[in-house]
Amino acid sequence: MKAALLSEPNKVAITDRPTPTCGAGEVLVKISHVGICGTDTKIYSGGIPANTPIVMGHEAVGEIIEGQAADGSGPGDRVIVDPVLYCGDCFYCDKGDTHLCENGGLVGREIDGVFAEYFLTQASNIFALGTKIDMTEAPLIQVMTTVLHAQNRANIQSDEVVVILGLGVTGLLQIQVAKALGVKTVIGVSRNAYKRGLASQMGADVVVEHGEAAKAEVLKLTEGRGADVVIEAVGYISVLGEAMDLARIGGRIIPFGIYAALEGKLPFYEFYFKELNIINARAALPSDFPASIKLVEDGKVDLTPFITHTHKLDDLSEAIKLLMEPSDKRLKVILEV
Ligand SMILES: [Zn+2]
Ligand SMILES: [Zn+2]
Repeated sequence: MKAALLSEPNKVAITDRPTPTCGAGEVLVKISHVGICGTDTKIYSGGIPANTPIVMGHEAVGEIIEGQAADGSGPGDRVIVDPVLYCGDCFYCDKGDTHLCENGGLVGREIDGVFAEYFLTQASNIFALGTKIDMTEAPLIQVMTTVLHAQNRANIQSDEVVVILGLGVTGLLQIQVAKALGVKTVIGVSRNAYKRGLASQMGADVVVEHGEAAKAEVLKLTEGRGADVVIEAVGYISVLGEAMDLARIGGRIIPFGIYAALEGKLPFYEFYFKELNIINARAALPSDFPASIKLVEDGKVDLTPFITHTHKLDDLSEAIKLLMEPSDKRLKVILEV
């Protein structure tokens, strides 16, 4: 089979590898579409350590060729891969926190991933997509599972005011998921007018620029208290500081961006004085998959506007380079396998 192999940082090439054979408790999937995200570009450039040589990629959908998934789907069914590996037998798995498994890992980082024609995985890592969902959009459901996991962890109530800082792919998904879960007041914040427009179309009740404008809007909508929940979806320490500033006393902050910086300025006194709660989300639980699939199937989350670029698997190098260039209008890049 064809697979894109990262032999060392910044060096990826299409190679021929043996097609995996399906054993007991396993499922073989013929991949049709794969999403590329920041994790892949960071593995590519060496920013995130990975077991090279490795086949990257963790956002995949396709069709079962062989084997039976734990949810009952079998050959011919359209499915999504849950890329979070877990042992089922450690301290965290016993607690039900399979996403934090001490023997676990991410497909495409610790073990060979889905930038390939076929992918073999455990029966419990496959979820049925049904027949309604567009396969080009479906890889985004993997991204959405972590968004849903984060919002579930924060136990967001419908009458709370939720602010999302940064309106890239994950920020816009955060907006749609919050609205789908029934949150009445969702505020989207971005310096980018195009993305603020998208956020409005996707259901944000208010969109505003970072800084004083955001603060004024949040205070206006909360009788001067500040937001109940602030989701940071950029990955900058400065924006995490803004999140602390916008949250109310006793509020919750979800630092959803992944921070590359090792130091930076934060309003530490506010952090203490407001008694802020910081809620992280590293990965999703298996149960986040059927829940996310249902939100898309029911039309409560619309993934169509996210797909701005599609490429062939053969063009992975170019697609990764494209993703590493700054752009105001690019959202999700999908590879057709
Ligand atoms: Zn990803
Ligand atoms: Zn485990």
